[in-house]
Amino acid sequence: MSGLPRKPTGPTWPPGLSPRTARPPQPGASEQADQFRSLDASLLYCPSCRVATPTRERLLLVLPTGNLYEYLCQHCGTSTGSKTDNQ
Ligand SMILES: [Zn+2]
Repeated sequence: MSGLPRKPTGPTWPPGLSPRTARPPQPGASEQADQFRSLDASLLYCPSCRVATPTRERLLLVLPTGNLYEYLCQHCGTSTGSKTDNQ
């Protein structure tokens, strides 16, 4: 029982790769985002009100790549942002 080819250094995992496989998702990060999307009451900064205000989503354009929505301030109606909804 001598001369067993035993290498103390087996397969070395690069640090930072192995613990990532069993990593739990961040608590409530994605769920909160989904809730905000369903409520459709995201706050956007309004340059006229100078404060983050609730927005109203309005369909602005229908593009081949998706629908372009515009966010309007609920207080003064100023456009505070836009998004493209990819289908
Ligand atoms: Zn406003």
